Order: sequence, then C-alpha cells, then structure tokens
Amino acid sequence: MERIAARYLALGVTLTLVIGSLLPLTVAEAQPAAKDVVVTPEAKVQTVPVPSGGDAADDPALWIHPTDPEQSLLLGTNKQGGLHVYNLDGSHQQLVSAGTCPNNVDVLYGFNLGGQQVDLAIATTRASTARGVKVWRIDPKTRMLADVAEGGVLKVFNGGEPYGCCTYRSAKSGRHYFFANAKSGEVEQHRLEDAGQGKVRSSKVRTLRVKSQPEGCVADDELGHLYVGEENVGVWKFGAEPDAGVAGKLIAKVGENGLKADVEGLTIYYATGGKGYLIVSSQGSNTFKVYTREDDNRFVLTIDPKGGKIDDVNDTDGICVTSCPTSKQFPKGLFVVQDGSNAGGNQNFKLYAWEDIAGDRLLIDTKWSPRAK
Ligand code: CA
Ligand code: CA
Ligand code: CA
Ligand code: CA
Repeated sequence: MERIAARYLALGVTLTLVIGSLLPLTVAEAQPAAKDVVVTPEAKVQTVPVPSGGDAADDPALWIHPTDPEQSLLLGTNKQGGLHVYNLDGSHQQLVSAGTCPNNVDVLYGFNLGGQQVDLAIATTRASTARGVKVWRIDPKTRMLADVAEGGVLKVFNGGEPYGCCTYRSAKSGRHYFFANAKSGEVEQHRLEDAGQGKVRSSKVRTLRVKSQPEGCVADDELGHLYVGEENVGVWKFGAEPDAGVAGKLIAKVGENGLKADVEGLTIYYATGGKGYLIVSSQGSNTFKVYTREDDNRFVLTIDPKGGKIDDVNDTDGICVTSCPTSKQFPKGLFVVQDGSNAGGNQNFKLYAWEDIAGDRLLIDTKWSPRAK
C-alpha cells in the first residue's frame, strides 16, 4: 500500500515536472511572431482635402500647444501649393506660403529668438521661386504661423532642390538643427540661428550620404539618432550630432518583416525613460512598420488601418505621431498619415487614436513632454 502510494506520488511529481516544462513552450507558441502581428485601427478624424488634385498632400507634423492641449495643431504639406494648418477636428485653420510647394514639414520647440523661447515649423520647399527651407514661427496665442526665414528661404545644396527634411534639437548642446536631403542621396545638416530682426538663418555643419533616393527622415532629440529612409533600400541610422561622423547602419531592410518600397514617412513615438517606437511608412504595402526606439530597433508589429466611417488609406507618404494628450478625441496621443486616395475628394490626412493602435501590445505613455529639457 505504501509502495503503491509512493509510486503514485512519484508519477505525480514526474507529471508535474513534465507539464511544468511544457507550459512555457505552449505559451510561447501561442504568441504570434512579430511579423504576424497586425493591428487594424479605424480613423477617428480626417482633415479637409488639400485644394490641389492628383498627388499633392505629402507630410504631416503635430505641434503641441504649451498650455491647452486641445489647441494643438496639425500641419500638412501640399507639394503643389502651400503649407496647411488644421485643427485636431480636421477643420482648416490657415494656409501659409502658398505656391512654395513644401514637401516635408517638421516642428522644433524652444528656439531662442530675440530673447524669447519660440516654437518653429520648417519645411523643404521646391518651387523655383522658393527653393530651399522655409521657417515659420508658431504663435501659441493666435495659433497662426508667420514666415521668419531670413531672405524668405534658407539655401541648401548650394541653391539646389531639396526633397525630405526633419528637425533635431540636441539634448547634449541645446542647439537646433534641420536635416534636408536631396534625390541625389545627399543629406545636409544645418544649424539654425537667430539672425536678428525676428528672423532665422542657418549654416551647414556637415553632409551625409545614402546611395539612392532618400526622403523620409526623423531625428531622436533625446537619444541623438538620425534615421533616414532610402526609398528602395530601407532605414539608415546615423548619429545626429554634427561631430558624429558619416557612418550609418541599415536598421530596417526592404523585404524584411514585410517592409515594401518605397520607404516613405518616418516618425518617433516618444515615451519616458528613452522608450517608445520608430514608425515607418511601408508605402508599397499600404502599412506602417513599428520598431523599438531603444536598443537595436527591434521589429514589433504592423499597423494596417482599415476603412470604416472614414475610408482606408493607401500609398501613404508622410506620417507623424505624438504620445501627448491633445483634444477630447485624442486623450492618449494620435497617429497621422497622408492618404493617397481619399474617398471624399482630393488627398488628405487621416487621424488615429493611439490607444486604438496600441491595444495591450504597445506602450501608452502620456507623460512625455516635447518641451522637457
Ligand atoms: Ca518619395
Ligand atoms: Ca488598410
Ligand atoms: Ca513623400
Ligand atoms: Ca483612402
């Protein structure tokens, strides 16, 4: 009897050990691999269409209001016209610099102009009469943009035609920069400076290169990285400081994890503690690829929006994201993408609530501030 009981006890222990060792495996197998994880949010808001037909809308950028998040603005380029400013319900607020053909746009916080801390928007403009980089000051009281580029436009590529651009505020030095790239593959970094009389000027600090056409780019202000999309190749990572050298690392390749050319817009979701995500527009698959912001930019998942009350998006160029709370519709941040064919007319921009993308898979961190030092 005792012997039988001992035998059953031994069997029980053995079974527990076997089941115990199998359990972690079973759980691991139940989790789909990152390449198979696809989230499918529906747009909550869309902007009024741009006034130009055909391929016109290109790149969005968000500006977070310093005191009233509801008053934050969405900027969007019309590469056949000017820079449009929208409220977060998608309504139109302002058109600036009509006819300058802005291609990519980005925002900078805390620039010292005439002894005042101001926020700036910058864009690469491609019209023959305004070839270079334009700079606007964003007035938090009126929520209007005013042109502050010295001479109307800052020259890049010796007066040649730029393509994509992004801004960089160095956490190390507090200096403000922009990167502009050209279809040749050249990427120029310029430092922005107060030119007096309320104007802003720039001076080139270095040139980087990729082998074929780049466009989308984004800099990580805190971690000091620059990411450049080489449209048919992938995403390159460089040091963003002017003395960081010119060597880049290809951190995402076309053909891997479903990334399909063209590589277009790039944006960073900033969370506290250096965490967050790098998001890339995979134009050829009408999806968005999410990588970790930290470490080796590990691939996390795919965003494939779906149509609902607002139509689906395709052939997306530029994108932008914020982790900051803004309007009542977007209390936990939002993701904005250009739509290549808008069911309601000309091209426009579609806005997604971050929590609809994040679910329980991605961080939702509303504590990070773009104005923190
Ligand atoms: Ca492009
Ligand atoms: Ca879709
Ligand atoms: Ca584009
Ligand atoms: Ca659409």
